[in-house]
Amino acid sequence: MSGIVIIGAGHAGVQLAASLRDAKFMDSIRLVSDDPDFPYHKPPLSKSFMAAEDKALQPLRGEAFFTQNNIDLNLGVEVTKIGRADKCVVCADGATISYDRLVIATGTSARKIQVPGADLPQVFELRTATDARAMRSALPDMKNVVVNGGGFASATNWPIICLSAIISPLLYRSIAWRNLPPHSCFVEQNSRHLKDIP
Ligand SMILES: Cc1cc2nc3c(=O)[nH]c(=O)nc-3n(C[C@H](O)[C@H](O)[C@H](O)COP(=O)(O)OP(=O)(O)OC[C@H]3O[C@@H](n4cnc5c(N)ncnc54)[C@H](O)[C@@H]3O)c2cc1C
Repeated sequence: MSGIVIIGAGHAGVQLAASLRDAKFMDSIRLVSDDPDFPYHKPPLSKSFMAAEDKALQPLRGEAFFTQNNIDLNLGVEVTKIGRADKCVVCADGATISYDRLVIATGTSARKIQVPGADLPQVFELRTATDARAMRSALPDMKNVVVNGGGFASATNWPIICLSAIISPLLYRSIAWRNLPPHSCFVEQNSRHLKDIP
């Protein structure tokens, strides 16, 4: 029996697996994700995870949940092709996984900024735990920060950068941002952190 295969082990994929088991779905459930990390909450990546070097990821569910509910996890496995005729997905390493039903829960990815220099090492993207770790370890050396984008990830992230800058004032000079929501509560709540910045 091939059961359900879910591509993506983010909030949507993991919650779907949980809901299926809650609804007494008995067939096999397999989550396939190209992210190597155990499924985690993304919102803390731009908040508590960014604020302290030793912060761990917040798992969406504990390991016991997957074991007890007989939900299989294939992590660090990219699906590169869907074979609808054969009812299977093909992975980057050439392996195939059969399904009776397939769910695509692949979320989204950060839109690449198309400007010269976008590929420089000091330009960071924030979408995954891998991105957040890279940015967090570079944070102490940041002097001038530009936040591009005004969604949840960025609007909640730049106050953390400001906070670390105030703790280490020599490490920070200015912050500029584009497209920040005009009435963002983060601006109001965190503008006080900006007042002492040279
Ligand atoms: C830094 C950050 C901060 C955020 N803060 C907030 C917040 O404060 N409040 C809020 O409401 N929302 C916030 N969000 C948004 C929220 O996290 C997303 O809405 C949510 O993660 C969407 O879940 P998802 O499962 O649909 O997609 P994702 O979390 O993107 O999961 C998609 C999964 O699919 C996998 N995948 C994609 N393609 C393939 C493939 N070809 N093969 C295998 N696997 C694949 C990915 O690896 C990933 O595991 C934030 C997001 C980020 C990145």
